[in-house]
Amino acid sequence: MQPIQAATKTKHMSLLRPLYRLGITVMGALLLLWLLPASQIFASNPTPVRIGVLAYKGADAIQDDWSYVRNWLAAAIPGYRFILLDFNQAGLTRAVHDRSIDFVITNSGHYVALEHSDGASRIATIVSPWALSPRQSIGSAIVVRNAAPLQKLADLIGKHVLAVNLDAFGGYQLAARELREIGVDPEQDFAKLEFSGFPLQNMVQAVVAGRADAAIVRTCMLEQMVARGEVEAGALRVLAPIAVPGFQCQTSSRLYPDWPIAALRHTSAQLSKQVTIALLRMPATADGYSWAVPADYQVVDELFRELKVGPYTYLRQWTFEGLLRLYWGWLLLILAVLVVWAVHTVRVEYLVSQRTRDLRHAQEQQRRMAEQARLHQATLDHTARLAILGEMASAIAHELNQPLAAIANFARGMARRIAAGRLEPAPLLDGTSEIVTQSERAASIIRNIRAFAQKKTSEQKSVDLLAVLGEAIALFAGAHPDAGVLWQPGAALGPARVMADPLQIQQVMLNLLKNALDAQHSAGHADAAIEVQFRTDASSYWITVRDCGCGLAPEQFARLFEPFFTTKPEGLGLGLSLSKGIIESLGGMLSAEANVDGAGLSVGFSLPQEKPSGAI
Ligand code: ADP
Repeated sequence: MQPIQAATKTKHMSLLRPLYRLGITVMGALLLLWLLPASQIFASNPTPVRIGVLAYKGADAIQDDWSYVRNWLAAAIPGYRFILLDFNQAGLTRAVHDRSIDFVITNSGHYVALEHSDGASRIATIVSPWALSPRQSIGSAIVVRNAAPLQKLADLIGKHVLAVNLDAFGGYQLAARELREIGVDPEQDFAKLEFSGFPLQNMVQAVVAGRADAAIVRTCMLEQMVARGEVEAGALRVLAPIAVPGFQCQTSSRLYPDWPIAALRHTSAQLSKQVTIALLRMPATADGYSWAVPADYQVVDELFRELKVGPYTYLRQWTFEGLLRLYWGWLLLILAVLVVWAVHTVRVEYLVSQRTRDLRHAQEQQRRMAEQARLHQATLDHTARLAILGEMASAIAHELNQPLAAIANFARGMARRIAAGRLEPAPLLDGTSEIVTQSERAASIIRNIRAFAQKKTSEQKSVDLLAVLGEAIALFAGAHPDAGVLWQPGAALGPARVMADPLQIQQVMLNLLKNALDAQHSAGHADAAIEVQFRTDASSYWITVRDCGCGLAPEQFARLFEPFFTTKPEGLGLGLSLSKGIIESLGGMLSAEANVDGAGLSVGFSLPQEKPSGAI
C-alpha cells in the first residue's frame, strides 16, 4: 500500500506543480506592478515618435545619415521609440498634413512652406561641419565642366541646365534667385531646363559625361563627391563662385540657413521641449554635426516671395486675390488717386455750373440794359425828330400854305367862270386837275411829316441809300423852298444798298442840312447852295454836307459832338450827338472839318456797303 499511496501522492503532486508555478508567477507579477513606477513598466512598451525626413540623397541614406539623431533621442528621452521615416518632398508634405509624423527634418525652403501651410514650428537648426554658421550654411553650386567656356552666370543663356525640381532649395531655387537678379529667367532663357530629381549625384555625372552643360546642386555636394572619389578632381568646377570667407565649399549663390527640425501642431508641447533640450545638449558627431537654437528663416521667405514659389505661388496666377495681395499698396494708391480725381471733378463741375449760372445772369442783365438803352435811344430819336419838325414847323406851314393858296385860287377862278356862265370844259378841267395836283402835293408833305414824326423803334433793312437821301432832301427842300440844295448823286450810279433804318438816315440827313442852313443864315448867305456830295470806295458810301456858313471857332469845334452843346438860342444841342450814335450803330462814322477852300463846314458820314448775299 505504501508504495501505491506514495505513487498516488507523487502523481497528485506532479499535477499541482504547474498550477502552483502559475500562481506564483501571477502573484509575483502583481507584486512587481505594485512596486515599480509607471515609466519603468511602459519602458518595455515605449510610445512611438515618428520623425519624417526629406530623403534628398535617396531613401537608403536616411537611416545612415540620421541614425545618430534617433539614437541620441532614444537614449536621452526614455519611454519613447524614435522612428526615422524617409519621404520625398511631396510625401513629406502629405505626412505633415495627415499628422502621421510628429517631427519633421527638411531643408529650409520646404520648412518655410510647411510653416505657412501647416504651422510647422522649428525647434533647432542643424550645424553642419562645412557651415559658416546655422544661418549661413546652404547655397546653390552651379557645376560645369572645367574646360567649358562658361565664366559668368549670364553665360548659361542658351545652355542645357539640369536642376532637381522647381521646389528644390539648394538644387534650384537659390541659383534661380541669383539668375533672376541679373535678368536671366531660368525658365525662359536656357536652351533647356531639365528637372531630373533626386539623387543629385546623377546630375553631376551627367555634366561630367557631357549630357548637359551645367547642373544646379546644393553647395558642398561637388566637394563631397570629389572627396569620396565619385568625381575626378579638376573635372568640374563651380560657375561664378562667390567669395564667402570661412565657408569651406564653393557657392554660386549667397548662403541660407541650414536644415531645421520642426515640431508640428499636434506634437505634444512636453515632448517638443524634451526633444529640443536633448538636441541642444547633443555633442557634435564624429562627422562634425550638432544642433543649435533655431536660425532666422526670414531670408528664405524673401526668396520665395521673389521667385513666386512655395507659399507665394499664387503670385504667378493673375487672380484678383493674387493681384490684391501683390499690389495692394499700388491699388490703394490708385484708389486714393481716383477718389481725389472724383472729388476734383465734382468740384470743378460744381464751379463750372455756378460760373455758368453767374454768366447767364450777367448776360441777361446785359441784354436787359441793352434793351433799355435801345428804348431810350428810340425815345431820344423820336424827340430829336420832333425837335427838327418843331424847328421846321413854320417852314412846313409856309410850304403847306402854297398848295392850299393855289387850290383856293383855282377854286375861286372856277367859281367866277361858272358864275359868269363861261362853262367851257377845258379851262374848268385844267382848274380841277391843278386842284388835284396841289392837294396831292399837300398830302405828300403831310405824309412825309407823319412818317418822320411817328414813334417806332429802329428797324434795319436793306435800303437804297440814294433813294432815302433823295427823300430827306425833298422833305428839307419842301420845308425850306428858299434853300438851295445841290444834290447830284450821278445819273449812272445804280442803287447804293445799305443795311439801315431809313427813318434814322433821314433824321441824320435833315439834321446836317438844317445845321448847314442855320450856319449860312448866321453868315448872311441864306441863299447860297448847300452842296450834298456822294462818293463810294471799296467798302463804304460817303455823304458830305458842305455849307458856306459861319463855321466854328476851334474851341467850339472841339465840342461839336458833345450832347447839349449848342450855339443857337432855340437849339437843343442833341442833333449831332444823336446822329453820331446812329451812324456808329450802323457801322459807319460821322465827322466834320472846316472847309479848306473857303468859309463854312463840311459835315459828313459813311455807311458800310451791304455785302452781296453769300459773301463773307
Ligand atoms: P443844335 O442844332 O440844336 O444846336 P446840334 O447838335 O445839331 O444842335 O448842333 C450843335 C451845334 O453845332 C450848333 O449849335 C452849332 O453851333 C454847331 N454846328 C452844327 N453844324 C454846324 C455847321 N454846319 N456850321 C457851323 N456850326 C455848326
